[in-house]
Amino acid sequence: MALAQVRCPDCNGLNVVKYGKQPNGEQRYSCQDPRCERTIFLLNYRAQPLAPSMRTQIIELALDGADATEISQSLKLSESDVLTIFQQLSRFSAPPVGVRPRKNQPAKVAAG
Ligand SMILES: [Zn+2]
Repeated sequence: MALAQVRCPDCNGLNVVKYGKQPNGEQRYSCQDPRCERTIFLLNYRAQPLAPSMRTQIIELALDGADATEISQSLKLSESDVLTIFQQLSRFSAPPVGVRPRKNQPAKVAAG
């Protein structure tokens, strides 16, 4: 019988231990991998966090100007998953859900 295994959202490693709880009762975890920069994290609602590579793809598509619907179709994710990543990535200045990322950044890499 297998318990749900907790993977670190950064290194995707299984070297993870429980690390107390948030004030709201959410379980915290600590990654024990010495190479991993993310030492403490939460699972949120997700049993299996998105792989870092998937996050990277979401970021790249978003920087290309794709919206959440286009990204979810492209990566075969649910749109809510994509929006969740958007929110996690933009916690410093969270845009309203569903708002298309602004394309006001200068392109550093030529397309093609
Ligand atoms: Zn880790």
